[in-house]
Amino acid sequence: MNIVISSGHGKFVAGTRGLIDEVIEARLVTDRVTEIVRGAGGNITAFHENTARTQADNINAIVKFHNSRQRDLDVSIHFNSTSAGVIEEKAIGVEVLHHVNNQNTRILAGQVARAISDASGLLLRHQRDSGAVARNNLGFLNNTTAPAVLIEVCFVVSRIDVRQYQQFFNEICHGIASAITGRVHVPVPPPPAVVTPPAGQQPAAPQPSSWARDAWEWGIVNGLTDGTNPRDNSTREQMITLLHRYHRMQVG
Ligand SMILES: [Zn+2]
Repeated sequence: MNIVISSGHGKFVAGTRGLIDEVIEARLVTDRVTEIVRGAGGNITAFHENTARTQADNINAIVKFHNSRQRDLDVSIHFNSTSAGVIEEKAIGVEVLHHVNNQNTRILAGQVARAISDASGLLLRHQRDSGAVARNNLGFLNNTTAPAVLIEVCFVVSRIDVRQYQQFFNEICHGIASAITGRVHVPVPPPPAVVTPPAGQQPAAPQPSSWARDAWEWGIVNGLTDGTNPRDNSTREQMITLLHRYHRMQVG
């Protein structure tokens, strides 16, 4: 899997500004995600556009760089703003854009948005589609030739968004790295081996308690438990495995 990732806008072509500056932050996120993916053995190339003086030249240069590389996925990092651009106290959140006609990148966009939201508490916009937004009028999505997603990490005018982003910068970058490299798809490991109780000990009851039945069924349906030993104690490793499966279920 080869990825090309770039920061939105350019050194001389401003993005949006609010409590933070989009160009500066997009570069930080791009570089950190690149570092994380490489650290995990992944193949990723980062690009920042540093020469264009107009928006058209800037987007053309970014697209040209992406299209000049052999890759499976194009990623663009941006930050969002409202049309009014006024500082707001309320949370606004994360969204990830994909080209309107691409079903695969629609799913990936949702996974990336959810990973960012899970990592940071940033509000997931467009919940119906897991934070994914279809667009047909963005130069990056229209003109890059590999599957592409454009990440709007958060809103630069929201005090809550910016606080979450700054506090969980590293977690957000890890979330993006996992989602774009597909590591959120690792298959669920087989359930832990059934432990037979030592001789003399009461064997586990075969049925869950009536008050726990709904939750137990839910756990089975969602692959969190294999449905055996409902009344056994769990070990710390079983607990964390359950939490991990639940988290992956959320991430998709
Ligand atoms: Zn932007």
